[in-house]
Amino acid sequence: MHAPFTLFPTTIPESNLQQATKSIVYFSRLMHHVAMDHQLLQESFKHIIDVDEFTKKLWNIYMAVRNGERVQPVWFGLFRNDFLLDEDQDTSKLQLKQVELNTIATGFGGVGSKLADFYRYILGLTGVKYTYNQIPDSQSTYGFASGFVNAWGMYGNPEAVILFIVSHNERNIMDQRLLEYEIYKQNKNIKIIRNTFEELVKVGKLTEDRKYFIDKEEVGVVYYRVGYAPTDYTDKIWTIRLELEKAWCIKCPPIQYQLVGAKKIQQVLAKPGILDKYISDISIKQLIQSTFAGQYSLDMGEEGDKALNMAVNNPDQFVLKPQREGGGNNLYGEEMKEFLLSIATSSERSAYVLMDRIYSKPRLNYIVKTGVPFIKLNCVSELGIFGCFIGAKDRELYNISCGHIWRTKLADTDEGGVSAGFGGLDFPFFNIP
Ligand code: ADP
Ligand code: MG
Repeated sequence: MHAPFTLFPTTIPESNLQQATKSIVYFSRLMHHVAMDHQLLQESFKHIIDVDEFTKKLWNIYMAVRNGERVQPVWFGLFRNDFLLDEDQDTSKLQLKQVELNTIATGFGGVGSKLADFYRYILGLTGVKYTYNQIPDSQSTYGFASGFVNAWGMYGNPEAVILFIVSHNERNIMDQRLLEYEIYKQNKNIKIIRNTFEELVKVGKLTEDRKYFIDKEEVGVVYYRVGYAPTDYTDKIWTIRLELEKAWCIKCPPIQYQLVGAKKIQQVLAKPGILDKYISDISIKQLIQSTFAGQYSLDMGEEGDKALNMAVNNPDQFVLKPQREGGGNNLYGEEMKEFLLSIATSSERSAYVLMDRIYSKPRLNYIVKTGVPFIKLNCVSELGIFGCFIGAKDRELYNISCGHIWRTKLADTDEGGVSAGFGGLDFPFFNIP
């Protein structure tokens, strides 16, 4: 089954793409600083872990590693910052509004790089006139792979392997394989092993000197392509996750990076004054801040009550988000309203954040997907910007912006995840007048 895609690329003003591309290195740096800030993490998660079992389990691993022996000082993240384009009421200019920043199992860094040529080919078939540069190349496969090659080098054992932890019956395997082949292209000495968590229960081993082995092979870098959903785990797999986090291998991402990808952190960072702690440059701060949509805590208390009432009275203006990844978890409209009313007096509500709903202007396109009628329909697109970051405690070792993608869904569906089955891959097109 092919990955779903739109028949045509989707236009974007060049300035919006440039701004988003420029901002990712600052966003990645910010994520790293936040991940180092124990106080902020504790303050942000303290109510959630009382009511959300999954986040609590992640938190417990974080604390176990934090309180344990010296940990691996190199942190590796492959990020994708997602935006919707919001139209300014007065100027009708398009503005980037951040949907979320993905920090674990970020998808489409592999296939995303293929899309520029793919759409050039399709436009060629239609006979549409365009110039080569109207479809801006994306180097996400190259950039992501360069992160692995660098991280592997930093581990320091030329015999060590890179471990991809994947799901059973992986549907998005082509995305991962492209990354694997690009790593090989960049360094022929690196061996990559693919295993599921279930397989690691049998073949993985943490030694006393905290090296992680698969049979006789020492693991230098671990790449999680699973591990963000509660259904990825059993008790035994939670033990494996803890062992990997304790192990000396470099993690992509380490547990703190996964935690800072939580919607809660996004809401906390949008609070007035918080960015000041991490960013001194005013123009960088403004660049980041300008992409924030309204975010509201639902913690028990006056402020949370106010947010809850606001959403109940205007359900179409907000999205309710739990601390989950992977699509299909948010609530909208009447369903959100009913749910909010049902948890209004329960501390359970602090596991969620409320966000202003962004309405992007729909555009006509076809989504090409197995089993779905091939008809022209109104679609909405979400921009993804890829970034690769390697950091140590107080040092940045590698930080690049490495490409872009659109993901497009039908305008009348709420969610946009391609892997979760809601939309298709798409790619930017500059509409040069
Ligand atoms: P997930 O981690 O499940 O991908 P997201 O925050 O990306 O969570 O939300 C999933 C989808 O819901 C997005 O791809 C987008 O289509 C839609 N969505 C999320 N936030 C908003 C918002 N503020 N306004 C409009 N749509 C949103
Ligand atoms: Mg998302």
